[in-house]
Amino acid sequence: MLRLMRNATGGSAVKSCVRCLGSVVPDPNLKDFDVVNEPILTYRKNSEERKALQKALKATASKCEEVPIVIGGKEYKTDQVMHQVMPHDHQHKLAKFYYADKKLLEKAIKTAVEAQPKWDRVPFSERLKMWECAADLMAGKYRQELNSATMLGQAKTAIQAEIDSAAELIDFLRIHAYFLKECVKYQPISEDIKVTKNSMRYRGFDGFIAAVSPFNFTAIGGNLAYTPAMMGNAVLWKPSDTALLSNWRIFNIMREAGVPDGVVNFVPADGPVFGDTITASPHLAAINFTGSVPTFSRLWKQVGNNIEKYNNFPRLIGECGGKNFHFVHSSADVQSVVTSTIRSSFEYSGQKCSACSRMYVPESLWPKIKEGLISEVQKLKIGDVQDMSTFTSAVIDDKAFKRITGYIEHAKNSSNLEIIAGGTYSDSKGYFINPTIVQSKDPLDRIMTEEIFGPLLTIYVYKEADLSETMKLVNSSTQFALTGAVFGQDEEFINCAMEEFKMAAGNFYINDKSTGSVVGQQPFGGGRKSGTNDKAGGPHYILRWTSPQSIKETFVPLRDVNYPYMSE
Ligand code: NAD
Repeated sequence: MLRLMRNATGGSAVKSCVRCLGSVVPDPNLKDFDVVNEPILTYRKNSEERKALQKALKATASKCEEVPIVIGGKEYKTDQVMHQVMPHDHQHKLAKFYYADKKLLEKAIKTAVEAQPKWDRVPFSERLKMWECAADLMAGKYRQELNSATMLGQAKTAIQAEIDSAAELIDFLRIHAYFLKECVKYQPISEDIKVTKNSMRYRGFDGFIAAVSPFNFTAIGGNLAYTPAMMGNAVLWKPSDTALLSNWRIFNIMREAGVPDGVVNFVPADGPVFGDTITASPHLAAINFTGSVPTFSRLWKQVGNNIEKYNNFPRLIGECGGKNFHFVHSSADVQSVVTSTIRSSFEYSGQKCSACSRMYVPESLWPKIKEGLISEVQKLKIGDVQDMSTFTSAVIDDKAFKRITGYIEHAKNSSNLEIIAGGTYSDSKGYFINPTIVQSKDPLDRIMTEEIFGPLLTIYVYKEADLSETMKLVNSSTQFALTGAVFGQDEEFINCAMEEFKMAAGNFYINDKSTGSVVGQQPFGGGRKSGTNDKAGGPHYILRWTSPQSIKETFVPLRDVNYPYMSE
């Protein structure tokens, strides 16, 4: 009956029918809107935000918060009790949490698989209202709860927390919602709407998605779990042990904003137990991973080995490590090289995946650059994140401390390497490593080619005559291709670098540092072993989380098997 009326009225009567089908477009209630990036607060002395942050820090530090496993809205605890400590004061416990075992993870899979079809029917307009509400809550009353958990739990300074757990997280929610709204505007060609209507609906996946997040960005955890959810998927979110509290706060805000039980299930777990359980399930539809190359490679292999088991071909999205470079040309502005490199290499103690870890400097500029770097690095204050004059703090945990100091010891023991600044460390109170600069005579020493993920920068000084050879070296000496920056005023050099480094970085900077990408402005991700380069924060990312369906609806009944030419 509805269909006949639509033929007669040109479609309006059918709207009431499509409204109940969440992902059918057009969703008449999906309004157009614009977005801007969330402003970054400055936390100057006596500012309102600074007072609010200090109050939140006190409250967060004053207790050890209990964090349960949540599956389908129900809370669980197991015998495997874990704690999150403050990296800069490792005797201070911040959160108590529990590892989900195999049985609980299987329960979470069942819950997610059952929740998905119902959630997929919720119209985009309603989902986006939840996302908007969550972003507003994060920008407003929960901003300092998120920042304080990120500062104390992950050892970020006030400004590093603000750009992560406030601005970037809010941007992911708002800007991916904006891209979703823009994306569904596209509809396939319908030549004559009275005869045939073609449409495309954006469904979630038939199964569940495993979101596995790293410690170093609170915002990444939120994005890995909730962008797939926004697209109609059901998710098992395994946060990192060392980002537990901030991630738990995101989960609660999303619940408050209306995300139904079972859509995202919060399941802290031992990494390999989680990986083994999800890759054994026939319902695995995708993995949204950010972390190291070995972990992602292990998951990929497990999926490959189990490929016959799955209902889908699981999509594997992984953003991994880097060995990011600053390449300096003799025409570069020295001061900008020095300040950009200090920030890129040592902010958040070099634990940004985009942090500069190797630098190439021409002989002619080396004396000035060396002097500038040493002078700046000596001024950096390393300490407790609650002290607002701190530049950076401790590294995340004992494993990181051991790995990074291992490279420092290697530098001390190698005749090709010379420590020109830093090189000292102590883990008596927190996992503190002083920003360290090494000069290497060998551009292929492992300190120049392996990801270290800590406050350690190595510099190779090249002869101007070897410029093109050295540029080739940048490209070929590591397995990574995440971020890279070139510094120079010479246009010919910049043009040459654009070609030479085309495949050496997914995010490329000219006369700017290799860190600091902003959602919607520099969509992020790298190639080669740095990941699948799906560019979170860009318009294409959401398409990785949908399985679109093309629909052709015909209003003129087919009456004749024969074609016209057959009767001529
Ligand atoms: P990690 O690989 O140790 O851990 C990442 C996550 O995987 C954690 O939640 C961990 O518990 C989990 N895990 C560990 N073993 C697992 C297994 N067998 N199966 C399933 N999950 C498992 O990485 P990390 O130390 O948390 O993060 C640092 C790494 O992340 C660095 O290499 C860094 O470059 C990278 N990173 C990349 C990006 C990017 O966008 N490219 C962003 C942030 C961090």
